[in-house]
Amino acid sequence: MSLIDLGSKYFTWAEVLASQTAARRGLDNTPEDETQATIVQTAKHMDAVRALLGTPVLVSSWFRALKVNTAVGSRPTSQHVKGEALDFTSPKFGSVEAVFAFLKARMVDFGIDQLILEYGAWVHISFTATPRHMALTIDNKGTRAA
Ligand SMILES: [Zn+2]
Repeated sequence: MSLIDLGSKYFTWAEVLASQTAARRGLDNTPEDETQATIVQTAKHMDAVRALLGTPVLVSSWFRALKVNTAVGSRPTSQHVKGEALDFTSPKFGSVEAVFAFLKARMVDFGIDQLILEYGAWVHISFTATPRHMALTIDNKGTRAA
């Protein structure tokens, strides 16, 4: 399957599709055309985030095909499957808590649907046409509003 033009200043398809789990299990992690279009929109939002952070965004997980998503133990309704969400850090900007706080204060500006501080180790961010502007913390104690 071919990929449409991502049209992003800061991100590449390689970053969007990279998955150690997919590689290890030999799973195809190529999105359908409709999902590719969603990823283009997500990348557009992330370009704005990256520009304001002013430091590199290191993507740990973006798109996950359903089988890949299941393999990593995530729910089938995950926004990663739709191409709407990614997990990242930006260590040159600061700690994940600092990145989270910076974006939480700008959820409306950026059109962020969900912003989640996960296990104090990475930030999960998602974008939709009708963003909910939700900030959450997920850790060993569970999920709660942040
Ligand atoms: Zn995530």
